[in-house]
Amino acid sequence: MKTRVITISDPDRQANDIMEAAQLLRSGQVVAFPTETVYGLGANALDAQAVGKIFKAKGRPSDNPLIVHIHDISVWQQLVEDIPEKALLLANKFWPGPLTMILKKSKLVPVEVTAGLDTVGVRMPAHPVALKFIAMSGVPVAAPSANKSGRPSPTTARHVMEDMDGRIPMILDGGPARVGVESTVLDMTGSVPVVLRPGGVTVEMLESAIGEVRIHPNVMKPVQKGDKVRSPGMKYVHYAPKAPVTLVRGELNRQVEFINKEAAKLENMGRKVGILATDQTLFRYQAGIKLSMGNRENPADIAGRLFARLREFDELNVDLILAEGVEEKDEGLAVMNRMARAAGFHIIDL
Ligand code: AMP
Ligand code: MG
Repeated sequence: MKTRVITISDPDRQANDIMEAAQLLRSGQVVAFPTETVYGLGANALDAQAVGKIFKAKGRPSDNPLIVHIHDISVWQQLVEDIPEKALLLANKFWPGPLTMILKKSKLVPVEVTAGLDTVGVRMPAHPVALKFIAMSGVPVAAPSANKSGRPSPTTARHVMEDMDGRIPMILDGGPARVGVESTVLDMTGSVPVVLRPGGVTVEMLESAIGEVRIHPNVMKPVQKGDKVRSPGMKYVHYAPKAPVTLVRGELNRQVEFINKEAAKLENMGRKVGILATDQTLFRYQAGIKLSMGNRENPADIAGRLFARLREFDELNVDLILAEGVEEKDEGLAVMNRMARAAGFHIIDL
């Protein structure tokens, strides 16, 4: 299959191009499209066969459910049994935006979308191309991140092309994703909402809107045998570049000292070392190939660059990556959740 990449710089002027993508989707095809978080791989959420093509293109385990994307709150009411008041409040405050809410699904949603669960995750993305694409499709759009399963999520159309060339008919290119990490996944089925995956809408933002919110223990810890897995995505290797990653946590000067020592030692052994640093520390490394994720005082900035930097290390063909940790608050929690998984939870605590 030939994969066409169509650049959309102005969704109003290029409505015909978006319409073509929407028609492909309506005819049961899979189309990649930009969102403000990462690029998505979309199919008609009401068509079980079309949804099956997403799992095939990604090589995604069939027990990992998909998030359904909508452009209008009225569609949400059809997809779920009941919308509690807190959920409505959050939707009004954060939609369109990087927040996915899990609720009991209605009969309309095929089990292929939810991987057999009786709940469904729904969100309204904030990217103008995504909103127009979903509206023109006239159906809710099931979409995971548009990467091959296990790889870092794509934040540009070029990243999608790297993973999906020849596997899907079309990619809409709407420029680089602004947020850079996936949506926050919030389970709203209990009395206290639970964050299953931290993301663009931070825990602090949720708490200031609705009060108490819990963070699921597996957000920063690997799933162990016997753990009750609330979100199947927690079980899998994720976001991994080709080279193994070691994540370093602790006081910043000690992190730099440790990484410098390790990098020198490994280079002496003939290994090509990648160092994932920040603007504040980049100049302090003597060995290795250094890339900055951005300003560590601004975790949203780091979230925006993390996945792109991991893919750059692939192109640089490093043998291993030593990565600095950031503070696990605000957008930093989402960054550390992705980094811990990219590292397969290989974490050095100093
Ligand atoms: P992705 O589509 O790659 O952004 O991944 C979606 C994430 O949301 C995965 O970690 C899923 O396990 C999680 N998810 C989607 N739907 C549900 C659901 N109904 N219940 C719990 N987690 C979900
Ligand atoms: Mg994903």
